[in-house]
Amino acid sequence: MEKVRTRYAPSPTGKMHVGNLRSALYEFLIAKHAGGEFMLRIEDTDQERFVEGATEIIYRTMEKAGLAHDEGPDKDGGYGPYVQSERMKTGIYMEYARQLVEKGEAYYCFCDKERLESLKTEIVEGKEIMMYDKHCLSLPKEEVEANLAAGKPFVIRQNIPREGTTTFHDELYGDITVENAELDDMILIKSDGYPTYNFANVVDDHTMHITHVVRGNEYLSSAPKYQRLYDAFGWESPVYIHLPLITDENHKKLSKRSGHASFEELLEQGFLPEAVVNFIALLGWSPEENREIFSLEELIRSFDYRRINKSPAVFDMVKLRWMNGEYLKAMEFEAFYAMAEPYLKQCITKDYDLRKIAAMVKTRIEVLPDIAGHVDFFEQMPEYDVSMYAHKKMKSTPESSLEVLQELLPRLEAQEDYSNDALYGLLCAYVEEKECKNGRVMWPIRTAVSGKQMTPGGATELMEVLGKEESLRRIREGIAKLEGECINVTE
Ligand code: GLU
Repeated sequence: MEKVRTRYAPSPTGKMHVGNLRSALYEFLIAKHAGGEFMLRIEDTDQERFVEGATEIIYRTMEKAGLAHDEGPDKDGGYGPYVQSERMKTGIYMEYARQLVEKGEAYYCFCDKERLESLKTEIVEGKEIMMYDKHCLSLPKEEVEANLAAGKPFVIRQNIPREGTTTFHDELYGDITVENAELDDMILIKSDGYPTYNFANVVDDHTMHITHVVRGNEYLSSAPKYQRLYDAFGWESPVYIHLPLITDENHKKLSKRSGHASFEELLEQGFLPEAVVNFIALLGWSPEENREIFSLEELIRSFDYRRINKSPAVFDMVKLRWMNGEYLKAMEFEAFYAMAEPYLKQCITKDYDLRKIAAMVKTRIEVLPDIAGHVDFFEQMPEYDVSMYAHKKMKSTPESSLEVLQELLPRLEAQEDYSNDALYGLLCAYVEEKECKNGRVMWPIRTAVSGKQMTPGGATELMEVLGKEESLRRIREGIAKLEGECINVTE
């Protein structure tokens, strides 16, 4: 059996969006699942769309996502060059285009801009499309040769008959048949000598022995033309897999505006590359087992491209955040701490034990930037209302809180050991003494030292980090606050 070889073939036109990364990931998984080879090819033939630095973004993204290629511009595997502009210099595209001209499957076209602009246009799917009228197909051979000899600018077009149909096969969509009359004689070689993407992808996929092609379904409408090229050359076409659209939560095309950023921007927002990759794998593919968390290794093992869905995949930010949180929870503490430390340092300048704080937030956040909202009170007590001391379930009221804090203050002042365990023991002894609910004691203490309803740790965990002096300062402040308010109430 033929060795599975796939390629990711980006055009260096800017950022690497979620859709691009999904194509790359699926290509990678198909190859690795089958023990095959995954290749990176840079499609830079459209010089007008070329963006400086975009190739570096591709390399960086692939590396961060863990999608190591076996072959590519930086890793020769015997099928190079791997950059289309370099392939062009070898003359490969022109040579194959000429073969098609000889077979009558393509022709030279010398029409100038004015003539092309005068041709009728049609509106297809909201876009203005020009169907070339085959004017140059009927030029006598001598005229073509004379034009070429005179150095007249030309393009080479595919010759698609006006009659009949063309059928191609897609793994997900099955056989698709289109009327040839709907297919334009697309340009294969441009006037600057560069091949179009449409032509280069066919020549390259064949000459580089690619067996499976995964791409966005915006290429579905061009696939019949590619099929005709394969047939014209007498080549076997690769397995085609056109992926469904990715939409936002409102079923609209993904856009920056709706917060759906590129891979690198997602990382900047605090998402982990592993979580993003896991999430993207599930945008259109459903595993056999009913589970959602997959490492890259597990994806390789489970990935079966026949289980890709045709229906649009929804990019659900809430789910991505949840998934990221699961990855943070499962992470080794040291690795987590290395990532969390800069975020902690941004909001905590005081000399607290950041490792203890990190351990508290590790299981509570979904993305690293969430840290700030959980730990801000360590640095500075927030403004809070005494009504926060009232908690039905905890059997706590401002009045009961005042009593608890006042009674505990001298004990906490006398206490030397401010470790979590020791403090917890102290509070529990008081609870027992009072024969009251735990919450009636813990709630006011936690409120007094944090000013927040939700904290990353319990009362005594927070006090351990804050230390004796700061804990007492906050409790005294709480007492003063409550005293003011409770007096008001009785008045
Ligand atoms: N260069 C094309 C793109 O970036 C690749 C399409 C394909 O995979 O064939 O969209």
